[in-house]
Parts: sequence; structure tokens; C-alpha cells
Amino acid sequence: MNYEDYIADVPNFPEEGVTFRDITPLMADGPAFRSALKDIADFARDKEVDVIVGPEARGFIVGCPVAYELEIGFVPARKKGKLPRPTKTIDYGLEYGKSTLQIHEDAIKPGQRVLIVDDLLATGGTIKATIDLVESFGAEVVGAAFLIELEEFAARDKISDYDVFTILKY
Ligand code: 5GP
Repeated sequence: MNYEDYIADVPNFPEEGVTFRDITPLMADGPAFRSALKDIADFARDKEVDVIVGPEARGFIVGCPVAYELEIGFVPARKKGKLPRPTKTIDYGLEYGKSTLQIHEDAIKPGQRVLIVDDLLATGGTIKATIDLVESFGAEVVGAAFLIELEEFAARDKISDYDVFTILKY
């Protein structure tokens, strides 16, 4: 499957000089989307994953069907103030400004084996924050999987201790 055919390159979005990789054509194509999700599930299958964590919002779109395929649960890492019950929180820096992710404090148990899934790996800021938040529960991050990796940012250097899988590199 040539996944690149299903990614729309959008110049100067969300700001001048940035090329946004839009995954919605991939999502809209049944066989291509299913194949991409199955590739991620196959990467995870022998890792004895207990639960998938996906950061808001595209991590939900990719992470939930992978959890369904592996017959395990899904835990959302949400932006500040969205979850209704007590949470654990991490603040992290973005290229411009900062952001916050939260997970319900009873959603992950110590010792659980966690796979983190998101749509795209760029600078690695989001995945690093998600890893740190998951590890604050005493859980083990057994890998991270993405549809797309933007190699120019060398995010793998930040997370070299982890098993990282991506189906498409730019
Ligand atoms: P990072 O934290 O690695 O710099 O950025 C990754 C996060 O930003 C992901 O959660 C992803 O959804 C979002 N993101 C950044 N650039 C793009 C892009 O070009 N396309 C898509 N689909 N998401 C992006």
C-alpha cells in the first residue's frame, strides 16, 4: 500500500512556511485506513500491551481502532479541562507557547504495559509529554506508533529508549 497517495500536503498551514500533512484522505478510504491501522496493530501484537493511550485529538482517531483490533482498552490524554474527574497533569513546551495533557488518575494502573498512538511525530514534544505522563502512573511504555514521521525534526533522538514505529516517513 502506498500510503503517501492518501496524505494531502497543505502548504503554509497552519502558518506560513509549514507544510501540513493532512491524514483525512487516508481516514476517508476504507481499505487504506484499515491497512494502516492493521500495520500498527501488527507492530503491537507481540508486545503484550494492556492499554493504548492516544493524545487529543488525532491520537483518538488512530488509537481507538487499534485498541479495538487488539481487543484492549483505550485511554485518552486530553487537553486541559476536558476530563470530568480527577486527573494527572503534565505541562510541556511547544515550538510557540505551551500546552497541557491530562489523564484520569484511575485510568492507568502501575505496571500496565502501554502503547502510545498518535497520527504524526514532528518535534516529539507531544509524545515525550505523553510518555512522561504515562510513566508518572508507574506504567511501562512499551512503544509508540504513528502514521507519519517528519524526519527533519529528529524526534527519535528524544525518545531513543523507546520502540518507535511509523508507517510513512517524510
Ligand atoms: P510534535 O509534538 O511531535 O512536534 O507534533 C506532533 C503533534 O502535532 C501531533 O499530535 C500531531 O497531531 C500534530 N501535528 C503537527 N504537525 C502536523 C501535521 O503536519 N499533520 C498532522 N496531521 N498533525 C500534525
